[in-house]
Amino acid sequence: MKKADRQKSCFLFVHSHPDGFPDHSGQDDLEERKLFSTAFNRIRTAGVHASLIFMNGVPSSGRAWLEDGSHASLERIRIIGDRFRFIFLRQQQVFIPDFFDRQVRAFGPDVLLVSLGLDTFEADPISKFRLGTEDFLRLGELIGGARLPTLFVFEGGYNLTALPQITVNVLEGFESG
Ligand SMILES: [Zn+2]
Repeated sequence: MKKADRQKSCFLFVHSHPDGFPDHSGQDDLEERKLFSTAFNRIRTAGVHASLIFMNGVPSSGRAWLEDGSHASLERIRIIGDRFRFIFLRQQQVFIPDFFDRQVRAFGPDVLLVSLGLDTFEADPISKFRLGTEDFLRLGELIGGARLPTLFVFEGGYNLTALPQITVNVLEGFESG
């Protein structure tokens, strides 16, 4: 807390539960009330302090404490490190596979723009990727799993025999994902 005050930082309290309980517990409510009341007394940094519960290495519950002793649940955590990630606490879900990374940086998590290049197909005449027909279903499912308004821009794919099928696979996977 001293360090947070000196560095004008906020205080973030992190712990996990041995029994794997993913949410803040009744015990947390009691203890954090005291802890964050102390934090607001000792740390003069303007803003909020917060607490996170971790499960399996990712946050499963988070809340911000306010100076008046109330707290508010966090819905989304953005991790800015060697790469961006978004963790959606409500759905208990971490997503943004690597290939979404650039889109997320460019557009934020509200809209997904997919530049759909299907020259990743294994029998594409100009590229050396190894994706089979079924892989495009999985790809579509992953994109659909993001549950975001999505715009596909058709970009390429040069195996004209396979192109209709792999395009349909992406879209079918998307709709079922
Ligand atoms: Zn706890």
